[in-house]
Amino acid sequence: TYDVHIIGGGLAGSEAAWQLARRGVRVRLSEMRGGGDMTPAHQTDGLAELVCSNSFRSDNDESNAVGLLHHEMRALDSIVMRAGEKARVPAGSAMAVDRDVFSAEVHRTLEEHRNVDIVRERIDILPDAGLTIVATGPLTAQGLASSIVAATGEERLAFFDAIAPIVYRDSIDMSKCWIQSRWNKTTEASNEDGDYINCPMNKEQYLAFHKGLIEGEKSDFKDWEKDTPYFDGCMPIEVMAERGVETLRYGPMKGVGLDNPYDTTPEFPQGRWPYAVVQLRQDNKLGTLWNMVGFQTKLKYGAQVELFRTIPGLENAEFARLGGLHRNTFLNSPQVLDRQLRLRAAPHIRFAGQVTGCEGYVESAAIGLVAGMMTATELTGRSWTPLPATTAMGALLSHITGDADAATFQPMNVNFGLFPPLHEVKKKARKQAYTERAKADLADWIRSAEPIPA
Ligand code: FAD
Repeated sequence: TYDVHIIGGGLAGSEAAWQLARRGVRVRLSEMRGGGDMTPAHQTDGLAELVCSNSFRSDNDESNAVGLLHHEMRALDSIVMRAGEKARVPAGSAMAVDRDVFSAEVHRTLEEHRNVDIVRERIDILPDAGLTIVATGPLTAQGLASSIVAATGEERLAFFDAIAPIVYRDSIDMSKCWIQSRWNKTTEASNEDGDYINCPMNKEQYLAFHKGLIEGEKSDFKDWEKDTPYFDGCMPIEVMAERGVETLRYGPMKGVGLDNPYDTTPEFPQGRWPYAVVQLRQDNKLGTLWNMVGFQTKLKYGAQVELFRTIPGLENAEFARLGGLHRNTFLNSPQVLDRQLRLRAAPHIRFAGQVTGCEGYVESAAIGLVAGMMTATELTGRSWTPLPATTAMGALLSHITGDADAATFQPMNVNFGLFPPLHEVKKKARKQAYTERAKADLADWIRSAEPIPA
């Protein structure tokens, strides 16, 4: 017998199991690896296997968002952070681990816990009753994915991401760009001046940029990703560029209907249309993050930063997220999940980890941690006190469960652009201010609201 069924023993599922077990909740943890199944990226039967790099990224909890997330997870006794500490290998200010020691440590801790039953089985259908956490990750097995689609409706579960880079608004040089919607078209939801930041290019700049796209170094698709389809509107920008030098000028970089106020003539007092343009659209409710429209790409990260900083106005751009295109199973969470990660259509089912549209080992584990705490609270019959949106966990959670735009939802890693802004603090001191505020607010939350002190 068990109180909660967790499906998937990766980073998120293991973390959720631990958070429940340590609060006295009995868990069945179903993991298909070791039961005759495997994903294309995993190589072992171990719980919480790291499928690629062995890094949890920056461990700087003074001025880095992922380092802050480490801090918050430690404060909430995360098994991933605990095992990570035991498996730690030298990596400067980053936190890197021996992947085998790490996975073995997570496995041992859960296996030895009397409240956890690890079962090697593949689950193909969402349970129709009983508290459940689905943490099956970016490579969720096909049968279960179909069952999720049946519960959420078509097009609410994506099988590939198509990530356009996201830029911090305050790093855009507005002395070269302007805000306007094409043809000044607006909707009810529109901002007063328009919905897009426009970065204009002249012919020479455009041709150089086009060449940069074609020549820039790209990442390869993994063998099992080779059948990645390019959906309409999600084609990598460099693939579009390869179709011809003009293709982008008739696609995402078209300048028509946009009046460049920096290029006026007596004939065009409002401004002439630019030869080409890069448009950015607001990506979160706070208005701190803007995505480069149509710029999903397989260019390597270094090549992206170098090339995109040649765009007028983006010379000093700071990127909250760079572009990418991968096989990745994830929900349109803002649409289908409530603020507590529950499926609106079947609230006994929670989702956790990368399948909710967060991105990265640490983020996936953090969402598993929160899902575990929420489920434990639900079992006691008490109401959940939301995590402050000023914390890394709260900010990420708010984004994926509602603050992100559902129409353009794509996976997100933790970054300070998700935090309620502190405009009054000087830019240089801002990261530290976000961090200090988060730490204080989390400490208050733990004191007053943490569901069951473990
Ligand atoms: P997972 O860790 O994948 O766990 C999901 C578990 O569910 C798996 O163990 C799987 O076997 C199991 N499962 C799936 N379906 C079923 C089912 N029907 N029944 C039972 N069990 C099931 N992030 C980084 O931070 N750094 C990286 O370098 C990195 N590299 C990545 C490389 C690849 C190829 C991929 C696909 C992702 C990568 N990620 C990386 C992103 C992501 O953070 C990790 O995939 C992370 O493991 C996600 O955690 P999770 O718990 O959500 O999913």
